[in-house]
Parts: sequence; C-alpha cells; structure tokens
Amino acid sequence: MTIDIAALATPGIATLPPYRPGKSAEEVQRELGLTNVIKLASNENSLGPSKKVLDALASGGFDLCRYPDGSGSSLKRAIADYHGVSPGQITLGNGSNDVLELAARSIVTSAHEVIYSENAFIVYHLATHSIGATPVVIPTRDQSHDLAAMLDAISGRTRLIFIDNPGNPTGRWIGKDQLRSFLASVPEDVIVVVDEAYYDYAASLCDDYPNSTDYLADFPNLVTTRSFSKAYGLAGLRVGYAISHPDLADLMNRVRQPFNVNSLALLAAEVALEDQEHLRRCVAMNEQGMQTLTAAFADLGMEWFESIANFVSFDLARPAGPVYQAMLQEGVVVRPLVEYGLPNHLRVTIGQEYENAIFLNALDKVSATYFSL
Ligand SMILES: *Cc1c(COP(=O)(O)O)cnc(C)c1O
Repeated sequence: MTIDIAALATPGIATLPPYRPGKSAEEVQRELGLTNVIKLASNENSLGPSKKVLDALASGGFDLCRYPDGSGSSLKRAIADYHGVSPGQITLGNGSNDVLELAARSIVTSAHEVIYSENAFIVYHLATHSIGATPVVIPTRDQSHDLAAMLDAISGRTRLIFIDNPGNPTGRWIGKDQLRSFLASVPEDVIVVVDEAYYDYAASLCDDYPNSTDYLADFPNLVTTRSFSKAYGLAGLRVGYAISHPDLADLMNRVRQPFNVNSLALLAAEVALEDQEHLRRCVAMNEQGMQTLTAAFADLGMEWFESIANFVSFDLARPAGPVYQAMLQEGVVVRPLVEYGLPNHLRVTIGQEYENAIFLNALDKVSATYFSL
C-alpha cells in the first residue's frame, strides 16, 4: 500500500484517541477463565427493562423488512405528553449520544468553540473533534462544573456548552438556582445542552436537583437530553431524546439519519415510558444500593464522591490499577478512571442487592490484601 490513509484524516479526527468502553462480562470470563462475572462498569441498570417491554417485544408484530417510522411520531407524542411539551420540541436519537452529536453538528462549524468541563462525558469531546471545532475545556472545581469559569470562557466564537448533570464519573451535580442563574447569564445565541441521562435516579436522591425542562420556556437556547439507557434499562436498544425550542429541534431533525431509531427501540421506549411503576422500582433499588455501598466505604475508611446517579466513584488513596485487576480475578468488573485524571479512584455501578453484596465481598477481600501492604 503506497497511500497513507491515516494522513487523510481530518485534523479533528487525527488527534482523537479511540473510545475505550468498559470490559464486558464475557470478555473477562474468557480472559480469566471465570464462570461467574458481574459487570458494574458501565452504569447499566441490571434489573433490566419492564416486563411489559419484554412482552411487547416478544409479541412481535414487526415487519422487519420495513424501515421504521422515520419520524418516530408515536414515541415523540408519548414523550411530549410525558413532559407536557409539544412533539415539535422532541428530537429522537440512537441513544442520547446521537442527539448530543446532532446538537453539535446542527449549529457548530470548525470556526466555533465548544465549552465543557474537564473529566466530562467523553462524547462531548468526540462530537467537538469530529466537526473540527475548538474544544474549550474548563478545569473542574471540587470535581464539579466550575460554572463561573465556563461563563468567563464564553467568547464571540462560542456556539455550544455541554453540561452533564449529574456528571459522570463523579456524580456531582449543580442545583436549581445555580442552573437557572447560569442559564440567565449565557448569551442567547450560545446553545446550552444539559445532559440528564441519570435524571430519574438524581431526582430521587436529591431535592435540589433541577429538572431543566422546567426552564425551557424561559431559555430558548436550552436543550435537555434524556436517555432510555439508564433507569429504563434499555442500553442495548440505543434510544434517547432531546427536548428544545421547536426551531432548534427542526435543525437537529434535519441533520439526523432518516431512520436513526430502529423499530424495536421505538416500541420498547414507548412501553417503557408507560410503565412508571417499574421505573420507580429501579430508582428505589438504586437508593437502597447507594446507601449500602457508601455505608460500606465508610466502614472501610474510604472516601467517595457523593453521587446522585447510579454509580459512585471511590478513592483507594493508592493507584487503583492493582485493585481493579484483583477485583477482576474475583469476577467483578468496575471502571478504572485513569483517563479521567483520577488514578486512585474506581467507579462502581450500583447493581441489584446480590450484585452489591458480591462487589462488597470482593472489595473487602481485595482491600485486606492491598491495604495492609
Ligand atoms: C450513560 C450516559 C449517557 C447515555 O448515553 P446513551 O447514548 O443514551 O446510552 C449520556 N450522558 C452521560 C453523561 C452518560 O453517563
């Protein structure tokens, strides 16, 4: 081969490190020859989707040779009713990752700047780089968004600000007044995307956690994104959405792939939204699990970032790599946070009661080895 294909990459993509997802349970099972592995590494809801969703998917009725409804009108109507907004304010995506990218692609060019926090969700970085726009990365303050510094960083070239609330991997959040006064200070032609992938967990764990859709009427430059991947237990089907001013939704709907949400995902999300009782069960399980895990960290004398999501990052006060490896040997997959600049932390997703127990047992065993060194 004489041509250097890598040299053809656009400047934003040439410098982009590839995304490294957490290890799957099957991978760990195979690599380490283990039979029972639990995965608490990617903030999935292991309780899974509502039985009604599974029944609806099993009952079939799909004409799989046909394209899905390209406008997703039935799901959009259900989401609009759920939020008390109009269907014209909704943009559906192949996961909320998709809508995060649509937000960027519909308004940002390589001449623009995009602001987000250090250690924020990696997709903001991917979306910004793939367009060739300039990322303006704001250092965190106490591991949370430094909103004042973000405001200071706004320039004539700023088009978009991404805020994950709560943030992943720290789980820290910004409160109602903080968010409102931030939005009030951002110029109207700068779009603010508030990523609420963990909304239902967060709302249950914190009274001061803002539902940013409450502010949509006052701020036409606001976009709220939500996901069916976390509390609704549908990560494998890939479906999420944005709620925004209808004019912005119109732009985002123009750039999306015509059939970006598949037939199964459209149906599953609609049924999932109807089964709020299942959602409440998942949220209650998470509240309980959060208490169990943080109480155990306290007993072990470990610090952690107070989190209102379905994960918690805890501090081993020593390089976490060996502990991560030893946990793998015990059949428990958690998430190292080296690439987030947190080499002494591990992030664990809150699981079902039995999974939390297995995790804590393993941590107990492993820490007895490592901490007594
Ligand atoms: C998990 C997560 C999402 C969800 O992405 P999907 O594409 O909807 O699965 C979005 N934002 C953050 C910060 C997350 O941690």
